Amino acid sequence: MRLGIDLDGVIANFTHGWMRFYNRDFGTELRPEDSQDWGDLVGLTHFRHVGEFWKWSSDLDGRSVFWHLEPFPGAVEAVQELGEEGHDIVVITTKPHFAVSDTHEWIEKHGIPAEEIHILEDKWEVDCDVYLDDGPHILPALVEHRPHRTVCRYVRPWNRAVEGAVDIHDFDDFRKLVDGLDRGRAGK
Ligand SMILES: [Mg+2]
Repeated sequence: MRLGIDLDGVIANFTHGWMRFYNRDFGTELRPEDSQDWGDLVGLTHFRHVGEFWKWSSDLDGRSVFWHLEPFPGAVEAVQELGEEGHDIVVITTKPHFAVSDTHEWIEKHGIPAEEIHILEDKWEVDCDVYLDDGPHILPALVEHRPHRTVCRYVRPWNRAVEGAVDIHDFDDFRKLVDGLDRGRAGK
């Protein structure tokens, strides 16, 4: 099956990544658990708008914040195993223009077995059998435009249940769901 998988908030720990540099640069003590809302890039920082956040985050020790991110524990291994089981890993991610090459490098560096990499705003344009995303604005659009596909919400403090989307709490959940769909398709 084609598995459309997001990076930030799903495989890559964006919150931990930007906070680590923000604390270093501005002397704060933010912790990832402080982030409860999608707007925290502005809400928890001194930046007046998200453009200021992106400007700062575009050059942290010569790379964008995205290059520095750490994967969530077990996420890369889970995606590798899904790939080994014969599924196509289709990375679908939204990034600022300055982070495009860093994103390709990050995927390579961490051994994500991506068959395809799509960097775009309207993720539903990429047709997949199953989607896994954490974006509160992304999930309803996937459900709306891909009503016959399976849309999974990676449950995070900054998103809410979306009608038509399946809640996934971790990659064990996701693998079970994919296995079940795969067996159903094959009539196994
Ligand atoms: Mg995301």
